[in-house]
Amino acid sequence: MTYLTMNTPLQVPYHRSSIGPEEIQEVVETLESGWLTTGPRTARFERDFSEYTQAPFSQAVNSCTSGLHLALTALEIGAGDEVITTPLTFCATVNVILHRGATPVLADVDDDGNIDAGSVAAKLNPRTRAIIPVHLAGLPCDLQAIWSLANRRGVAVIEDCAHAIGSHYRGVPIGGAQPDAGWPSAAAVFSFYATKNMTTGEGGMVTTHDEQFAARLKNLCLHGISKNSWNRYADRGSWHYEVLEPGFKYNLTDLQSALGIHQLRKLERFTADRTRLAALYSELLGDVEEVSLPRAKADCRHAWHLFMLRLNLDRLSINRAEFIAELQTRGVGTSVHFIPIPLHPAYADMAARPENQVPRALSLYPRLISLPLYPAMTEEQIVITAKAVREIAMENRVSRFWALTAAAAS
Ligand SMILES: *Cc1c(COP(=O)(O)O)cnc(C)c1O
Repeated sequence: MTYLTMNTPLQVPYHRSSIGPEEIQEVVETLESGWLTTGPRTARFERDFSEYTQAPFSQAVNSCTSGLHLALTALEIGAGDEVITTPLTFCATVNVILHRGATPVLADVDDDGNIDAGSVAAKLNPRTRAIIPVHLAGLPCDLQAIWSLANRRGVAVIEDCAHAIGSHYRGVPIGGAQPDAGWPSAAAVFSFYATKNMTTGEGGMVTTHDEQFAARLKNLCLHGISKNSWNRYADRGSWHYEVLEPGFKYNLTDLQSALGIHQLRKLERFTADRTRLAALYSELLGDVEEVSLPRAKADCRHAWHLFMLRLNLDRLSINRAEFIAELQTRGVGTSVHFIPIPLHPAYADMAARPENQVPRALSLYPRLISLPLYPAMTEEQIVITAKAVREIAMENRVSRFWALTAAAAS
């Protein structure tokens, strides 16, 4: 939910993408090349992505959602199987599990909003086939704890990396090889949706360390056909192909990869900009007791996809919706990540089951506001936003005296 409208431009819009002349030029060249669908530019984007993440195999897909579905399909996870994931995610993470006919099981979250490994451990059972952690906001999950749980049980880990391109876990890019991990994730799945840290408009990537799994992904990604049309063209125009298994239409086009190639080259700069702007927020808001700020973790690099503010509601006389409306009045667009899965009507039956109780996610949710954070932002816009947050907090502060006397009296 963003508050961007056409007729009232905000001083600080919630998001603006950073597309430069390099991307535009490459798209024009792609159009002029005559090769519009999946071909040489997608192959190059996949190679570049593997080089960046240090994951040996990269499969380009048309969204993170299709990448997650592809990974579950290639692992043959379906009816009777359980997949543990987080309630604090976009609906796609859960939808793909349901589309496989499998059963999503929700584990609760930590203070930082990431899936809690202790809760995962409590929900593992012989039906569990996979765990889908989400690196919320670009902050890596406790992967070591999740890997060791999964390893002990022979369960696959599929990382939802929609926020995590540019994140590092113990010095290695998310999706890359972890020297001592023992059982690395089966797949890491990235999103290049318009608002993500790098974009192809719509798009995604699945990385893996398993060559056979990568071959299965490649096949399932394009109808289950043994060769894509570029391979056939390169193979002196051979018309012959075979359908090896019924697959999907999940391929990324060269027009999209044209954007991705240049966005990836700019990613380190984008991440540095996000990190600098996030640090400025922290500097400007560190002493505001009505809010808690997101923090990076030791031995991780935060990609700062989101700056998720947590309101300290016991210190405020207004709620989150009112806080957001006040920010809007001051020209600042915001969003909320995420409305927890149990609160959507589609998942009501699932949410009612005892194994899906997630009290910490539900109590965190009313406190969450994502502030604008993107490389195209100016430091002045960060200052405007921080000043608005500080003013709203001051104007709606609950007196500590009355709060303490009320607490003592009850
Ligand atoms: C954006 C997002 C997705 C879906 O990505 P698409 O590329 O739009 O399919 C999945 N999970 C999370 C956590 C997301 O934020």
